[in-house]
Amino acid sequence: MLGTRRDTVAVRVGHVQVGGGAPVVVQSMTSTDTADVAATVRQIRELAEAGSEIVRVTVNTAEAAAAVPEIVRRLRGEGCEVPLVGDFHFNGHLLLRSQPACAAALAKYRINPGNVGHGTKRDENFTTICAIARDHGKAVRIGVNVGSLNQELVMARMADNTDRNLGRSSAEIINECMIISALESTELALAAGLGEERIVISAKLSRPPELIAVYRELARRTRQPLHLGLTEAGMGVKGLVWSAAAMGVLLAEGIGDTIRVSLTPRPGGDRREEVLAACELLQALGLRAFAPSVTACPGCGRTTSTTFQELAERVQGYVRERLPHWKARYEGVETLTLAVMGCVVNGPGESKAANIGISLPGTGEAPSCPVYVDGVKYATFKGTPEQLAAQFEALIEEYVATHYPPRPLAG
Ligand code: SF4
Repeated sequence: MLGTRRDTVAVRVGHVQVGGGAPVVVQSMTSTDTADVAATVRQIRELAEAGSEIVRVTVNTAEAAAAVPEIVRRLRGEGCEVPLVGDFHFNGHLLLRSQPACAAALAKYRINPGNVGHGTKRDENFTTICAIARDHGKAVRIGVNVGSLNQELVMARMADNTDRNLGRSSAEIINECMIISALESTELALAAGLGEERIVISAKLSRPPELIAVYRELARRTRQPLHLGLTEAGMGVKGLVWSAAAMGVLLAEGIGDTIRVSLTPRPGGDRREEVLAACELLQALGLRAFAPSVTACPGCGRTTSTTFQELAERVQGYVRERLPHWKARYEGVETLTLAVMGCVVNGPGESKAANIGISLPGTGEAPSCPVYVDGVKYATFKGTPEQLAAQFEALIEEYVATHYPPRPLAG
């Protein structure tokens, strides 16, 4: 049983609500040069179509800032309504002030309090960005990051630890500084005239235990919605597991209003993987349903052929390909559950628990495949792997068309 969702202030990011009891929002970030309008529009569309409900773009130069209004214009012209967030570091106050069209086109500004300037300039520049957000009616994310934490604050706390012989570890001090930076910056944003309903907070670290500790404390001390993410999670399996371990714990405790999985793609890899990972994480916890789930067993010594792995992969691909069509026509199809199992040990049990399940023959078992629909034996499929796949896909199509109400036609 998951913990109760934390009570947070609702913040509007374009048409998307973050916090205030809204479903946990998936977001991602482009990797293109924002000044390259065509490439950035293409990637934003891909991320949005994969399930990203908010997309962040780097706004690091005058050229990037100048490109933002055109990016938004083209996206809207192509029917893509995803809200854009501008990621600002070092010169955000200058770019937003000199390019009001950029400020107006973005739905939210991400400000890193560790990267807005030094000394007295820090608060001044931070306040400038908040005032621009206030005047344009935009939200901000106060995005503290362990890699760019306010070093003056860290040094002062370290010195205090030594002078007063407090015996605290570096990790404890850094965690505390992350929280202080986030909360003091929130106070500064409020003082600049931004309402509570315009402020989201994040405090990203790269190690799960620290991330969990910091977010638990933030959840205790603020009602602002929290953006979760393990920063610099890394590549492949490591990035996925570390992100899921850290965010899974927090989400299960009801902490987190929007998430990003910060995966490092392989060279030439697919940026959408981070979106699919975020959707899978929320779906695994039962917090959201984005796509039909396919349960498949891992296979073992009882399965000497690769038929069931191939069928599981093909079914997964088929569902992904058909989903946009189904979603446009049938209400609730994303809750469909499928099972593709490798033998009689767990096959019939898992198949019965799914809406549609098939149990393939393990080594030495009769060459037939019992199929279950909503827990009841429906048929026994036989034939080549190709024929099995075709029969199973036809059954899925029939089930979708007969079990989910048609969506009302738009317009
Ligand atoms: S269902 Fe059968 S094939 Fe699959 S892992 Fe279990 S025992 Fe192995």
